[in-house]
Amino acid sequence: MHLTELRIRDFRNLGSQDLEIPPEGLALIGDNAQGKSNFLEAVYYLETFRSFRGASDERLVALREEMFRVVGRVATTDQDVRTVAVAYERRGKRKKVTVNGSELGRLGDALGSLAAVLFSPGDVALVSGGPAERRRFLDVVLSLNVPGYLKALQHFRHVLSQRNTALKDESPPDLVRVWDEGLVRWGTFVLLERRAWAEECCGAFRALYEAVAGDTQSASLRYAPGVPLEGRVSEQDVAAAYRQAIESSWERDVRSRSTIVGPHRDDLEVTLEGSGSGGPLDARGFGSGGQWRTAALALRLVEARTIRDRRGRSPLVLVDDVFAELDEGRSERALELLEREETGQVILTAPKASDVRFRGDVLPRWHIAAGRITA
Ligand code: ATP
Ligand code: MG
Repeated sequence: MHLTELRIRDFRNLGSQDLEIPPEGLALIGDNAQGKSNFLEAVYYLETFRSFRGASDERLVALREEMFRVVGRVATTDQDVRTVAVAYERRGKRKKVTVNGSELGRLGDALGSLAAVLFSPGDVALVSGGPAERRRFLDVVLSLNVPGYLKALQHFRHVLSQRNTALKDESPPDLVRVWDEGLVRWGTFVLLERRAWAEECCGAFRALYEAVAGDTQSASLRYAPGVPLEGRVSEQDVAAAYRQAIESSWERDVRSRSTIVGPHRDDLEVTLEGSGSGGPLDARGFGSGGQWRTAALALRLVEARTIRDRRGRSPLVLVDDVFAELDEGRSERALELLEREETGQVILTAPKASDVRFRGDVLPRWHIAAGRITA
């Protein structure tokens, strides 16, 4: 995937700029608070149509302006070039996405246009944070890479919220349980896809973690479903297990006035091994800052592999100044790994030019000051 051109209008502090992006990518150098992350935020906006930093769309509009616009020309091959454009209006809170000039009925249809993966300092929360962070990670990765996942997830969320409202209102049991089959139908899809992804990726995660950490440490990834699934393999068996779990938690659901079991209670467990402290330890509770960062990096590298494996494209890699925080050995191994794994376009940011040691320093250096980018 190559981003060939980027047009920005009033996104954060970036003003009005038309940029031609070199095929190999670029390194954007600038002091703190000049707009490096804003630039990556604008690029990644074309992938998910929201801020990777969790900011509301309103925050992304330049101060004192009414709307922002980001337009990218994306080439999959020489023959397949498309223009993805998004505009957001502050007043009407209206977001309009077009691909090659035609407006799309559903945002979901344009998701993942860039096939980009973004490494950011905030990724550490994937490991240090609660299960909700990891569920969000799974949902983004699977929505972008598995046909039907986003639709199933949206249906599941809708049914769950209806059921929870009925429980909260102390509605008669029939009016609660009318939602059970919907939970099982859509929830089973979500459970199966999350489990399949985790099983497919656990080997790669371990290998990538070890490659960055050096040979004395390891880590593993395991899917911990919010429905007891021991030994259930087929779709039918998983659905039956889910149905049964809903059945047995009825009393608890009524007491807590919410739905206790289901994929909304899933976790993706990251466990550390061989750190000289005996048995496996939960990374969230026992990891060091560097171990969290290494595991988060491995998760993003696995995400890049998912894009390659499931969509057959080499992802556009965006790196927001993350290697600076690793110790020298780890950051060097992480960069080496990235160079080996990711052969496509790379856009990375750093405060100092000396922090950029990538592809033998051939990546073009661009500079940014007060939002203004110079090649
Ligand atoms: P660091 O090296 O510290 O990470 P950075 O170069 O990544 O810095 P950004 O986060 O990209 O910095 O940009 C921060 C700047 O963008 C701040 O100075 C902030 O005032 C400005 N900014 C953020 N949102 C808007 C907006 N909606 N309109 C105008 N300026 C904004
Ligand atoms: Mg930044």
